[in-house]
Amino acid sequence: MNDRNELEQRVSELNQLLTDYGRAYYVLDKPVATDSEYDQLMQELLAIEEENPDLIYPDSPTQRVGGSVLEGFTKVEHDYPMLSLSNVFNEQDIREFDRRVRDAVGDRVTYICELKIDGLAVSLKYEEGRFVQGSTRGDGTIGEDITANLRTIRSIPLRLNEPITIEVRGEAYMPKKSFVRLNAARDEAGDEPFANPRNAAAGSLRQLDPKIAAKRSLAVYLYGIGGDGEAYGQATHSEALDYLDTLKLVTNHERTRCKDVEEVIEYVNSWGEKRSSLDYEIDGIVIKVDRFEDQEQLGYTAKSPRWATAYKFPAEEVVTKLLDIELSV
Ligand code: NAD
Repeated sequence: MNDRNELEQRVSELNQLLTDYGRAYYVLDKPVATDSEYDQLMQELLAIEEENPDLIYPDSPTQRVGGSVLEGFTKVEHDYPMLSLSNVFNEQDIREFDRRVRDAVGDRVTYICELKIDGLAVSLKYEEGRFVQGSTRGDGTIGEDITANLRTIRSIPLRLNEPITIEVRGEAYMPKKSFVRLNAARDEAGDEPFANPRNAAAGSLRQLDPKIAAKRSLAVYLYGIGGDGEAYGQATHSEALDYLDTLKLVTNHERTRCKDVEEVIEYVNSWGEKRSSLDYEIDGIVIKVDRFEDQEQLGYTAKSPRWATAYKFPAEEVVTKLLDIELSV
């Protein structure tokens, strides 16, 4: 077989594997591979596609936001796509991301770094201050209506303290302690345990019966406004997060503004060990360009914003972290 045939065959294998792993993870909430296995295969496919753009198929997992809608749920068409994030894995990748950003918008760029909460992306819609609809990301364009389940989460206000109409986005998650308790109870009842808190959160919210979600101590951190952030009068993402706080929408306060890439790297490094002390799981750090004007200039690919990226923690720490939880509760 010649090199070209081998390459085509590998692309087809990678497409199939990533699609199968994605279905187990996003649709069934039961992963069959580890996140780092998935990430490595995705990086391999991205690298081949970059060298050989003619091998990028429209249904390649690199071109689509993972996930789809489960039967039984009402579908919700998002007003603005709910996208994924590109990934970076080391300091050099972060510096390359910064270089691409500064090439596009200039050296005045500033960043905001946030914890990457390992849960399920949700959109919450408020009309005149009342919570009216909540949905999952789904395939990025169409998600599942999980309003009844989200209403059971105490950190989601059913009424804002201003009668405004707004869509906010965030991550629903299961705290580590609730996860360990839930799996112990499942074990006792002879039910299959959840693989991790992320899958437990997703498996709880993607149930037709809201009584299940109500019993599972879920929580939410909001990390952005759907659509035009500037529509509410802020010029930067960090101001928009402060604004959400004033509305009584819960944001994560470990975020920090960084004036340059050195400060970004310092923040990322500071969480390598500290993250095991959090009572929720994070799988990385999200690095975002802070000014909306700069974000607009950078724009989007089909799958993710060019103005943000997710630094992923190395895989071996995951094992230690899970052991830590089991030993500490
Ligand atoms: P992602 O999880 O890498 O990043 C995008 C998501 O990050 C957003 O949808 C959002 O929900 C979340 N997020 C958390 N905190 C955030 C914050 N502060 N700001 C913005 N977003 C925040 O992307 P993805 O496309 O959802 O999933 C890909 C990842 O999922 C892979 O890298 C892999 O780790 C995992 N995965 C694993 C398997 C498996 O078989 N184990 C399969 C598919 C995907």
